[in-house]
Amino acid sequence: MMLRMTDPAPALGRATIAGGGPGDDALLTAAALEALRTADVVLYDRLAPHDRLAELAPDAELIDVGKRPGHHPVDQSGINALIVEHARRGAHVVRLKGGDPYVFGRGSEEVLACHAAGIPVVVVPGVTSSIAVPAAAGIPLTHRGITRLFTVVSGHAPLDEDELEHLAKLGGTIVVLMGVNTLPQIAPGLARHGLGAGTPVAIIERGCSPEQRTTIGSLDSIVVDAHTAGVASPAVVVIGEVVRLAYAGDATAAELVDRAERLGATLSTAAT
Ligand code: SAH
Repeated sequence: MMLRMTDPAPALGRATIAGGGPGDDALLTAAALEALRTADVVLYDRLAPHDRLAELAPDAELIDVGKRPGHHPVDQSGINALIVEHARRGAHVVRLKGGDPYVFGRGSEEVLACHAAGIPVVVVPGVTSSIAVPAAAGIPLTHRGITRLFTVVSGHAPLDEDELEHLAKLGGTIVVLMGVNTLPQIAPGLARHGLGAGTPVAIIERGCSPEQRTTIGSLDSIVVDAHTAGVASPAVVVIGEVVRLAYAGDATAAELVDRAERLGATLSTAAT
């Protein structure tokens, strides 16, 4: 459509690509809450906190773009199109995503779609499940004397031999997102490249929710342990010595510190 000089300027809205954290409202940032408060449209999916959206975004039309039984998910290009379409008619569109938008979240594709359409867009970082979900199970990804690095990897597709080898040799903590289905490939793959069979592994399902559950095993047992426990997505897999710090039931902080000190001592003995 051609615009004539006499036509009013088209109302241009804006988009906010907001991280919603791992699912608990308490882990939404102040910036995400402010975006929701001023939203005209919220596009959300099941990984983002959505139970109280009507309250947090009182003026917004709420659109579920995620997969739910009996509902068709909207694909990524469809989501990009919805953001642009609503912003073009003047709306403040909030795309609320699970965790952080830029950690395996396709947030950058949504930002590029806005840029391509000339829609002003900002990104609000979120609390990523890759760190927060292990923390909710009492697992720090780093701990002085145990490890000083962690790697976050997507298990959406199987890892290739090079990746398995480098991960196994790099050491440190390995965090796998979307790894429930590929665990039977990843665990033996890491073992094949030299990661110790006894390396502890934790799988935390539905982290930061009342249904959070942790299954702990070792590299050589975890595939069977996960199968026995009926582990299902969404879950974060943590591989590494820090798993030994996981809360055992209601261990007190003092017990955890004590356990950490004993673990540190064991590791430094092993290293000498
Ligand atoms: N952008 C998100 C990750 C998207 S990939 C973030 O930063 O957290 C989706 C994967 O994240 C899931 O398959 C699962 O591995 C993990 N995940 C997200 N929320 C989770 C939760 N509450 N509990 C366990 N795993 C979660």
